[in-house]
Amino acid sequence: VAPRSVRLDVPEAVDAVELLRIRLPLVEPFVASHGAEVERDLTLVHVRGADGVEGWGECDALAAATYTREDSEHAWAFLAEHAVADVLAGASVDVAASPMAWTALEVAFLDLTLRREGMSLAAHVGATHEAVPCGVVIGRRPTIDALLAAVAGHVAEGVALVKLKIGAGWDVEPLRAVRQAYPTLALCADANGAYDAAALGVLDEIDALHLTYLEQPFPPSLAADLDHLIVRLSTPIALDESITTSDDIARFSAAGLVVNVKPARLGGVAEARRAIARCADGGIGAFVGGMLEGGIGRAVGLALAGIDSLTHPTDLGPSSRYFDDDITEPFELSGDGLLAVPQSPGIGVVPRADRLDALVVDRVTIRR
Ligand code: MG
Repeated sequence: VAPRSVRLDVPEAVDAVELLRIRLPLVEPFVASHGAEVERDLTLVHVRGADGVEGWGECDALAAATYTREDSEHAWAFLAEHAVADVLAGASVDVAASPMAWTALEVAFLDLTLRREGMSLAAHVGATHEAVPCGVVIGRRPTIDALLAAVAGHVAEGVALVKLKIGAGWDVEPLRAVRQAYPTLALCADANGAYDAAALGVLDEIDALHLTYLEQPFPPSLAADLDHLIVRLSTPIALDESITTSDDIARFSAAGLVVNVKPARLGGVAEARRAIARCADGGIGAFVGGMLEGGIGRAVGLALAGIDSLTHPTDLGPSSRYFDDDITEPFELSGDGLLAVPQSPGIGVVPRADRLDALVVDRVTIRR
């Protein structure tokens, strides 16, 4: 991965950054082709100005380096050992070394600055929708019947799209079962890079199921094969792990491409905005993806999801889908299946003190 050196201005009257590491249990293990997540090991970045105004950010790296090569331990070390100290000293930092950790720091500073200005993150990024339709991502289930029961529950909630995590042994059959039960449902699949060109037969079968898009069928290392697949299949191909900066979008054929925009993977809100703008300019589909975020990450994703040029529903869902008790006040679906985009200054949410007390396993303050 090429280094990406970035400088981040420290907001005025901020002399220290606090890092809090929390363990937040998921309501159920989330199983994708790359592994299972049972609890979230999140690093929160907290800043407070001399004026008492605060800012919060959340690092959404997973517990193991299965989705990308960044894991939660690596991300904590990146922040605690040098990145925060470097930023406080006015030095530049290689964002590519730990983009999810960097995003937490960028968001904490941005949250504080926007709160001082009385501006919401949604307004800052140019979001014009106050509520957005959302999809659901369903991990592997033990049986087709269990999968169909899960889909039925989400369809009853009014979700705008259903995406199945797929991989070898769990692909055509479950997708076909859902398609047969719901002929007009907006149905998608995410393979997290589980296939290679030897699996073209399987992918051609999936192509016949009229998916809204097929996400990351091949790993990022097979970029040329992915580009061939974009041309070969009538199903649009969404790219997630392959897009680490907005510049990566230009490496793929525009027609039939959809970009999964995650600020954490891209290394921040500013880069996510650039990616969304590039997609809009190039006639490329785009949506805001999810990372099993806690309430702070969810608020950031929803602000971006309110941007009008996005073409597909966000993967972000209500807090209760992931956590019995989130770190912020929970995000809930409205009766018509929409999620509200936070409109208060900054990211619009703060962690609840009682939840932090219950969940923090480590904390460190780094001073200028
Ligand atoms: Mg994905």
